[in-house]
Amino acid sequence: MFDLIVRRGTVVLTSGSTTADVAIGDGRIAEIGPELGGASHEIDARGLFVLPGLIDVHVHFNEPGRTHWEGAATGSRALAAGGGTLFFDMPLNSTPCCVSAREVERKREALERASITDFGLWGGLVPGAVGEMGEMAERGVVGFKAFMCDSGLPEFPRADDETLRDGMAEAARLHLPVAVHAESQDKVRLKADPTDHRGLASGGSNDHGWGPALAGPSNDRGIREFLDSRPVAAETDAIGRALELARETGASLHIVHVSTGRGVSLAADARARGVDVSIETCPHYLWFTDADIEHLGTIAKCAPPLRAVEHHDALWDTLLTGHIDIVASDHSPTEPAMKAGDFISAWGGISGVQSTLPVLLDRGHHDRRLALERIVELIAATPARRFRIARKGTIAPGNDADLVLIDPAASFTLQKDHLQQRHKASPYVGATFRGVVRATLRRGETIFMDGQVAARGGGRFVRPEPL
Ligand SMILES: [Zn+2]
Repeated sequence: MFDLIVRRGTVVLTSGSTTADVAIGDGRIAEIGPELGGASHEIDARGLFVLPGLIDVHVHFNEPGRTHWEGAATGSRALAAGGGTLFFDMPLNSTPCCVSAREVERKREALERASITDFGLWGGLVPGAVGEMGEMAERGVVGFKAFMCDSGLPEFPRADDETLRDGMAEAARLHLPVAVHAESQDKVRLKADPTDHRGLASGGSNDHGWGPALAGPSNDRGIREFLDSRPVAAETDAIGRALELARETGASLHIVHVSTGRGVSLAADARARGVDVSIETCPHYLWFTDADIEHLGTIAKCAPPLRAVEHHDALWDTLLTGHIDIVASDHSPTEPAMKAGDFISAWGGISGVQSTLPVLLDRGHHDRRLALERIVELIAATPARRFRIARKGTIAPGNDADLVLIDPAASFTLQKDHLQQRHKASPYVGATFRGVVRATLRRGETIFMDGQVAARGGGRFVRPEPL
């Protein structure tokens, strides 16, 4: 007798899709096959695609310490509404940042109380803290995140090349990857305005950070200036350096939020020469271009910034040719007040944790014939494999019954009140998507169905399998 059978869906396996039942017992997938019998509950999945739950390897839920920005309770609800069952939280912008074993413990406890989905934790790699990495690894972090430009938070300083090299060597010893925000600080620069003496040239706004407010009222000026301050060359320069250090140290490198086809190609070339690198991009680079910023404003501010259409198209080309490994949201919300004001001083970060699958289904599957098996690779199978998370990422007997049920034929227009995150602001509001998430199951339990979140808590900490 099974606990649940998901009946007659099109089950997307790594080997292809098949119409089948998925039987679940004790939170695991017990059997996959036609006409399975005997369960206390059933879900009719006819006409729906059944995928493994989305694994979002890059979010900022800001817990503990900045739950007024988001928090794992609301963040994980939004993830579940977007088909997600597992996330890896970045070491910032929780506060204090997650750069020691003690903070890993604290964050784990806070998230175990709050999250409805399973979760893993990134540790931080910052100057002076390479010695902390071993103990963080013992506590089960999935890897270590470093910034190659200022992070926007003084308590999470940029990793200089020496820190990055030492950190990569240590991470290699610990068999864990280093994730880098790849923009070179010396190429990230707001142009000096001769009439302005408040130091725009000294760095200004960045990834998740603030910059000095602009004197002029013109928001448009802020947009152009911000885009110019973070050129493609800042990304490719940093990627090149990170790849070289990974080659030197033998570290596994994960490059987060690559925004250009050029950046992906650089990393893919290095991989072909033997560097152990995985490449992540985000749904916002696949959906928007810099032209959208004019009407969206600060809600679409992020770093690296949204790119010109030729870079956006080239990024899609690299995804379709199989060079991109993982699509993750880099969900990075804040309070509405910090998104107000001019473009330069506004907080940088896009809230999109609920929209990753809809973006890939609409712009990928519908517009570009991206196979569902490929989508599964990008959002579940590769994340689980790359970060050695056991029993996750694919639909197979013995694996956790983490599933998302999708109606590929239906469409919806995202409304503010669909958003499960704390602050109902997202650049995707008003967009119409083909492909609707009908239900999300975490270890066999329905945590989201037909627009309603159906769980409180219950998320478990996951850690990498030892090598
Ligand atoms: Zn991020």
